[in-house]
Amino acid sequence: MWLRRKWLLEISKSLYAATARKRPLQSPQTFYNRSVSISRRRFFTHATAVPLVAAAAARPLRIVVTGGHPGDPECGCAGTITRYTDLGHQVALLYLNRGEGFCGGASLSQCGAIRTAEARKACDLLKARAIFADQYDGRAIIDAARYETFAGLLSAEDPDIVFTHWPLDSHRDHRAISMLALDAWLKAGKAFALYYYEVAEDTTPFSPTDYVDISTVESRRRAACYAHTSQQPDKWYPKQVEITRSRGIKAGFPQAEAFLRHPESKPALLP
Ligand SMILES: [Zn+2]
Repeated sequence: MWLRRKWLLEISKSLYAATARKRPLQSPQTFYNRSVSISRRRFFTHATAVPLVAAAAARPLRIVVTGGHPGDPECGCAGTITRYTDLGHQVALLYLNRGEGFCGGASLSQCGAIRTAEARKACDLLKARAIFADQYDGRAIIDAARYETFAGLLSAEDPDIVFTHWPLDSHRDHRAISMLALDAWLKAGKAFALYYYEVAEDTTPFSPTDYVDISTVESRRRAACYAHTSQQPDKWYPKQVEITRSRGIKAGFPQAEAFLRHPESKPALLP
């Protein structure tokens, strides 16, 4: 029992440290007490210390979801992003490039503009902000200068939580931004929580540690993904739904987005 109490105390302290930063408090009722750390499923099986966790979330969290291309953060995390922004938290989608490499039937010279507009529309639907790292689609570069630039972009956001691609994804741009995010996290002394997400047809193998119930926001998640018209969402969105349904079976929800917390990351307050 003593060990269990000690564990709870440690969890509580780390959660408080994860959120007790310099930004101003907002009214606690702005936030839904379900801003519980780890996945609720896991947490409730181990503890009843929810009020302390909810109190620790009584200010807007800053969250950055990084993605290789416009549409990736939406594909893997739109439900979770919606849950966060509904609670009053601040979410930015940080795209490595503007999708210059493909935009359906339009000429390649138009792709950057078309896909930037699609990303902005998706972000509007999610009540999030779009940020672009301005690398080039399919030609991601990782070198000392890009590590610095990317770390600067993330640092400017002062994030509590960063989501990024699984580093073994099949697309090289996904792997690139995953490395850039990891490096920024290390450079920041692991100051923010670092989680990985999955996208259809790219992410294998993936063994999630945490789940977010997205059942109630499914229609808005779909709308954000379908904002990327040039990416022919009819082809890939159903595959992502298959994933969230199967994750939901595991987590006990109709649909769930699944994440893997970096083993050395502090736990995040997930919605
Ligand atoms: Zn991608």
